[in-house]
Amino acid sequence: MGVPILFGWGKKGKQIGYIGIDKCPNCKNYAHFNLYEYANNFRLYFIPILKWNKKIYLVCSRCEAAWELDDEMKKVFIAESLTSPNQEITTLIWNKVGKIIEININSIMEKYPDDFITPLVELCIANLCDEISDIASIRKISLKYLEMIFDNDKAK
Ligand SMILES: [Zn+2]
Repeated sequence: MGVPILFGWGKKGKQIGYIGIDKCPNCKNYAHFNLYEYANNFRLYFIPILKWNKKIYLVCSRCEAAWELDDEMKKVFIAESLTSPNQEITTLIWNKVGKIIEININSIMEKYPDDFITPLVELCIANLCDEISDIASIRKISLKYLEMIFDNDKAK
């Protein structure tokens, strides 16, 4: 994603979308990522009359590192934010998936040493699908959680 631009976001940026949990290349935490719009406002007698230089940034919620998105990436991430569950539901799935994986990972790894990822993800789906109808998100978040468990380069 290139070099992040770091700023204290304060209230300058406007949050326009939520992406989900991913590893931050800057702080190396698995953190919530949001889309922010940031525009320079031109003010006349304190009345904002136009916005120019409108830019979209992907921002890590933990360290506030921000990456400016080019037009192609804007489309990708805006589409992603429209299909992702919101932060509250993502957090709920993340926590539930985490419990299921941590309780079962040792026995599943013993039983299926060649591919324990697939049965673990299936187990998460089987346990949560009555409660959460968004199976694609359970699958995606389970895979991300497993990536985090085996990531030796994550933040401690
Ligand atoms: Zn970060």
